[in-house]
Amino acid sequence: MKQRLITHNGQTKNLKEWAKFYNINQNTLSVRMQRMSFEDAIKMGPAKKPSHISGVKICKDCKEEKEISYFYRLNRRKGNEFCPRCKECENKRTRKRRQTIREKTINLYSNGKNCCNNCGIDDIRVLAIDHINNDGAKDRADMINHEQWMVSLLENPRDDIQILCHNCNWLKHIS
Ligand SMILES: [Zn+2]
Ligand SMILES: [Zn+2]
Repeated sequence: MKQRLITHNGQTKNLKEWAKFYNINQNTLSVRMQRMSFEDAIKMGPAKKPSHISGVKICKDCKEEKEISYFYRLNRRKGNEFCPRCKECENKRTRKRRQTIREKTINLYSNGKNCCNNCGIDDIRVLAIDHINNDGAKDRADMINHEQWMVSLLENPRDDIQILCHNCNWLKHIS
């Protein structure tokens, strides 16, 4: 079959040659030309690679082979690299890490007693970090996130922080 000749910018080439000239797949170019002019079709440039990534990956922790959508991207903007652990295992690690930091902070600021400085309750679930002078607002304003804040409390121990249970903390603020 004889190729149709197209004249553009004073040059005449067939579709295959134009496709090569503009580094566009020939099929892509001819499909585009069914709905737009040659000029518009070449203006679109080479077809973009599909952004959807498929495939499977083995999780470093649970060792299960999972579809790639079960993994977080390493860098949301860059794209195609994924975390070594699946989302589920990654979330588990995050929870565990936060819990450990919280336990260490409570332990440090209760002088190893892990209990409320007022009533003595030792259920770690109800314990909270308290600003002795009720000046937590400044800390909260500077805070990047709660986890980072607790890390800073561990790294630079302060004497204006104590451990109270939520009840004692609340009673302190209303009295
Ligand atoms: Zn996993
Ligand atoms: Zn208490």
